[in-house]
Amino acid sequence: MNNRRGETVLFYKPVNCEKCGGPMIFKGVGEYECEQCGAIAYDDYGKVRNYIEKHPGATLGDVSYATGVSKEKIRQLLVEERIEVAPDSVIFLNCALCGAEIRSGRYCSACAAKVKQDEQRVAKVVKDKQKKMGYASDPNRDVTGRRRFERH
Ligand SMILES: [Zn+2]
Ligand SMILES: [Zn+2]
Repeated sequence: MNNRRGETVLFYKPVNCEKCGGPMIFKGVGEYECEQCGAIAYDDYGKVRNYIEKHPGATLGDVSYATGVSKEKIRQLLVEERIEVAPDSVIFLNCALCGAEIRSGRYCSACAAKVKQDEQRVAKVVKDKQKKMGYASDPNRDVTGRRRFERH
């Protein structure tokens, strides 16, 4: 588990057809089609998504082994909520705050609610502060000041 160091994880995307070298056109949900011969290829997201859909009981290790996509990348896809595992899946992530097992994202639902509350509270404090400052500032005060020309 070394995906929490904030490193950029690069995902594979097919650019050229493996069969004829033609340009791969993005079709949606991780699927690409060769413009020349019609061959289909998947990026990391497409591979993982397809495999999890067909094998809901697969472990992270199974998915990684079958798709050739590293566990780190798969975890990253889950954290980014690009992939959500089935309710009966054995793939788990952990809530960044309490460590509870979660299906996708960064927080469990309880912590997500807390985080949202905190964000709203912070936003309100900032808003109140701006309001107070607005009332407190004297609109007649000369903020530019007078400029004196001094000669050396
Ligand atoms: Zn092709
Ligand atoms: Zn939590």
